[in-house]
Amino acid sequence: MSDFQDQTGAGFDDAGGPPEFDMQDGLSLALSYLEDPSNVPCPHCGPGTIEVVAYLDAPSMERGTAVPTKPDGNYTVVLYCHSCGRAAALDLSRSEDMGEDRDAA
Ligand SMILES: [Zn+2]
Repeated sequence: MSDFQDQTGAGFDDAGGPPEFDMQDGLSLALSYLEDPSNVPCPHCGPGTIEVVAYLDAPSMERGTAVPTKPDGNYTVVLYCHSCGRAAALDLSRSEDMGEDRDAA
């Protein structure tokens, strides 16, 4: 499934076509992820469809670069639902309150 990562590296925003999770979905995903990273249900499709695509370095994300990292410290987790095709980038940086699914501008 490496083509997902390619898409992520280029940025979600220029894809134009695929649906995305809205902010409420992103919050729900983030809470589920924090509760149990291995079991994150899709707000639209239910459990068993979400895959963790990548962990990205959060500070690099803010500079517009996608740098793969370990799920430790300040990182952004990229989730993808195989059922509805939505993707979400959850910023799990602990420094501030949790920002989810930021608009990649
Ligand atoms: Zn879904």
